[in-house]
Amino acid sequence: MERPLLMIPGPVEVSPAVLRASQAPPPGHMTAAFVTDFSRALRAMRQVWRAGPDDQPFVLAGSGTSAMDFAVCNTLAPGDRFVVVETGYFSLRLAEMGRRRGAEVTVVPAPPGEAPPIELVAETVARVRPKVLGVTHVDTSTGVRTDARALAAVAQQHGALSLFDGVCSTGGEAVDQAAWGADVVLTASQKALGLPVGLALLVMSPAALAARTAMTALPPLSLDAASFLPVMTGYEAEKPTYFATPATTLVTALRVGLDEIVDYGVQERWAAHARAANAIRQALTAMQLTFVPSPGLAANTLSAVWYPPGVGPALIGSVRERGAVIAGGLHPAIKDRYFRVGHMGFVTTEPDLLLRTVVAIAQGLADQGYGVDPDAAVQAAAEALA
Ligand SMILES: *Cc1c(COP(=O)(O)O)cnc(C)c1O
Repeated sequence: MERPLLMIPGPVEVSPAVLRASQAPPPGHMTAAFVTDFSRALRAMRQVWRAGPDDQPFVLAGSGTSAMDFAVCNTLAPGDRFVVVETGYFSLRLAEMGRRRGAEVTVVPAPPGEAPPIELVAETVARVRPKVLGVTHVDTSTGVRTDARALAAVAQQHGALSLFDGVCSTGGEAVDQAAWGADVVLTASQKALGLPVGLALLVMSPAALAARTAMTALPPLSLDAASFLPVMTGYEAEKPTYFATPATTLVTALRVGLDEIVDYGVQERWAAHARAANAIRQALTAMQLTFVPSPGLAANTLSAVWYPPGVGPALIGSVRERGAVIAGGLHPAIKDRYFRVGHMGFVTTEPDLLLRTVVAIAQGLADQGYGVDPDAAVQAAAEALA
């Protein structure tokens, strides 16, 4: 059988050009070609994040989790107050990072599939007066998307920094760092940017960098924005500077992947994700399936879907045999009751890959004894994509 399509919420399928770049012999970190690639990647990040000229991109070897730790320990010092908007598993991870940094953490609660009302967040921020408001833009555990623009405004009104975990959004959802006035927007390479796993990426505002400069309880050297700042400004100006060896192969792939996004059009790429999400959901709805996020909160980068009656986690294996890898649940409170389908990166511009995914899910459901009409599902998706 053909290799099954990787349709989990990260890692994801990559484009042919990104795949080629990822397979090249490792470039030296001081070579002219690499220096140019790193500079171009940093400049392209400004476009993909829609960052302001004074905002600072960072590219580090690591995962999304390392990007989160980097953001937390450069903006929060022990004793600082940190308000976190609960949206699921990843928001609670952000809160735990704050606690480990010694911050006083206040979580604004919400049940699985929900986000707290903006009024409740505003009220909490007004009462607690935190240094940082932490938000998961899209919580990959539930498929919930928060109103990032409104939340950034709440932080700004109360003199707090805003920190967005955009691991499952940047490149696929509207991210508008300068217009929002967001202070940190972080992501990882393997999700909506459509690259292999291994890079932690952030853009920090001057206010976020100033928080680090003012600190006396310093972050670990390998997570210190001050360690990496001269490296990033150096490479962007095509003057290589050493602190810790950059992940050269991945940075080269990043340059290729971000160029593809910029050439396609950053906003057009958001629209492609919205189209893909709509097509997948039309197909799932045609099969009488329902979704974990409350109406109006569903992200464009993944779908979190309740198992229908009589179907459980064994569905994942059946769908894989039919040609697509999907993921199980992640939110501990509802873990075995739903599955997740990623639709981000390269596949969002490839209708045939989206339709193959729909066929695999429909056939997998049928194999599990759930009576569906695969043709009607494919038709619903195809109409949405037309
Ligand atoms: C995947 C993900 C993470 C964690 O990223 P890793 O690369 O697995 O460390 C964090 N936050 C969100 C929203 C994610 O989707």
